[in-house]
Amino acid sequence: MPTQQPRLIVNHLTRSFGGRIVVDDVSLEVSAGQVTCLLGPSGCGKSTTLRMIAGVDQPQSGQILIDGVEVAGAARHVPPEHRSVGLMFQDFALFPHLSVSENVAFGLKGDRAARQRRVDELLERVTLSGFGAKHPHQLSGGEQQRVALARALAPRPKVMLMDEPFSGLDNRLRDGIRDTTLDILKDEGTAVVLVTHEPDEAMRMADEIALMRGGRIVQSGAPYNVYNAPVDKAAAAFFSDIN
Ligand code: ADP
Ligand code: MG
Repeated sequence: MPTQQPRLIVNHLTRSFGGRIVVDDVSLEVSAGQVTCLLGPSGCGKSTTLRMIAGVDQPQSGQILIDGVEVAGAARHVPPEHRSVGLMFQDFALFPHLSVSENVAFGLKGDRAARQRRVDELLERVTLSGFGAKHPHQLSGGEQQRVALARALAPRPKVMLMDEPFSGLDNRLRDGIRDTTLDILKDEGTAVVLVTHEPDEAMRMADEIALMRGGRIVQSGAPYNVYNAPVDKAAAAFFSDIN
């Protein structure tokens, strides 16, 4: 097996609802430790694409591979819990009745001591050591988001799928959390697909931007290439409100 194969490969995904195509021939490759942003306006098919990668929705055609193993295809649908994917959404709430530690440990297997080590390591990484016994309602929005990140990463998913994860946070917090999140994801070596409609977030976080419109990827490349050489006027306009 080649050692450098992309962690995530998406080939020609298509999905329609009621006869209307909302994801149209989308292909992506994401390596371990890389962040690809699906960027585009509301309704362009970003979340639907992510949901198919997560396994909570199925494509009509196309194929998804994780570490070379087909998890979605013409005759194959591996359920989300067997895909080694971590999920983070804007409203992906913590379990309110569980402590911070219990939330982070939720998806962990193995012996108690090993689970506790992983929980402690992640709480330290998100700078919430000492918060383990608290409950979610005792935390600020930013702190809850950091717990959600720790929880999603705890089982060491091969692929992390994030859908507008920072959009519920106020501006003052957002830059810090973006940076912390990026540092941790890079350390863990996770392949990341980050969905956002905000060009500045994509510019800040992506190794590669896949610009979507009307269900299709209209341009992809390194952030500054996409920014500096937009494929058409609509792409240029989309980026124009970045400072
Ligand atoms: P984005 O995340 O880019 O805002 P979505 O992937 O959520 O876009 O949606 C793309 C299009 O598909 C939208 O027009 C949306 O209304 C439609 N859509 C998404 N999910 C469904 C569904 N379950 N049933 C019908 N239409 C849907
Ligand atoms: Mg969406």
